Amino acid sequence: MPFRDIVGHSQVRALLARAVRQETLPPSLLFAGPDGIGKRMTAMALAQALNCLEPVEESASESRDACGRCRACTRIERGLHSDVRVLMPNDRGAIAVDTVREVIDSANYRPFEGRRRVIIVDEAEAMTEAAQNALLKTLEEPTPSSVFVLVTSRPDMLRPTVRSRCPRVRFGLIDTEDMARGLTKWHGIPEPRARRAAAMAGGCFARALGDESDEATETRAVAADVLRRLVRAPAPRLRLELAQRLVARAERQGRAPSRALRPPGGSAAPERELLGRRLEALSVLLRDVGAVASHATPQRLANGDMAALLEEIAPGFDVHRVVRAYGAIDQALVALDRNVSPKTVADWVLMQL
Ligand SMILES: [Zn+2]
Repeated sequence: MPFRDIVGHSQVRALLARAVRQETLPPSLLFAGPDGIGKRMTAMALAQALNCLEPVEESASESRDACGRCRACTRIERGLHSDVRVLMPNDRGAIAVDTVREVIDSANYRPFEGRRRVIIVDEAEAMTEAAQNALLKTLEEPTPSSVFVLVTSRPDMLRPTVRSRCPRVRFGLIDTEDMARGLTKWHGIPEPRARRAAAMAGGCFARALGDESDEATETRAVAADVLRRLVRAPAPRLRLELAQRLVARAERQGRAPSRALRPPGGSAAPERELLGRRLEALSVLLRDVGAVASHATPQRLANGDMAALLEEIAPGFDVHRVVRAYGAIDQALVALDRNVSPKTVADWVLMQL
């Protein structure tokens, strides 16, 4: 992903793009800042800008950015470029000295396919003492064709001698507006929801995305379950139980660390929004059910990964029932917009499906 597509960090991006253009980039850098805000992604963008075959230059800002499409850019993006290496902690959470040595040895040769070799050490604080010592020698006598980027949210855990060799690039939290735009542009999350997720994420892009995808998965699971139970046209009592399920918030587990930073009540959507989303998910599932009935291939389904479940549901939903259900969900969504209580809407719609 080129610099221009990264969410937030506009000053850092401009600084790096200018240094690439003016060839003033130091041989080693420390990218420091909170987790989940795009430090490593920016390091990858730097690797692309340095090695892109058709770089995009801007005279006014004296900057050079990657095209994002050439062979070098795509190979870097996919982790296949022989001159761009990303080191990460192993299973035991450490970056061992052998790993660092191997990379340092390769850094002594000229780049194989690109212009500059880029070595990104992600979670650099995980380097063992010996690994940091091995790296230090290289940082003290850098080779002009290589750039080391140490990425960390804990710069204080690096040896002072290593730190002092790497000019620090500071990454701050991402602005809510920037984040909302990024969620919409790159992850297709509709605008009002993107804004809400951004507001809840405390400046951390990864958290916004994680919460969003958790919610999306949960929404679809609830809708699919309700639909499955409806197949046999159950009695009113069960329908009302399903209506309750449609407005009930699911308890999320195992997410305590990120919850601690959230406002009371967590990030769960208000009832109205929750029901709206689940009804929309139901509607998409119904469309798929109709498609399955007319023998569409899984690739053509919005929920292709649920093909087996859709096959199971389809016999219970003939075309008339699907059309009727569609109409009912539409009416329910309109009623929700008009401030009818979510519970009333859920009860009513479940009687129609
Ligand atoms: Zn390119």
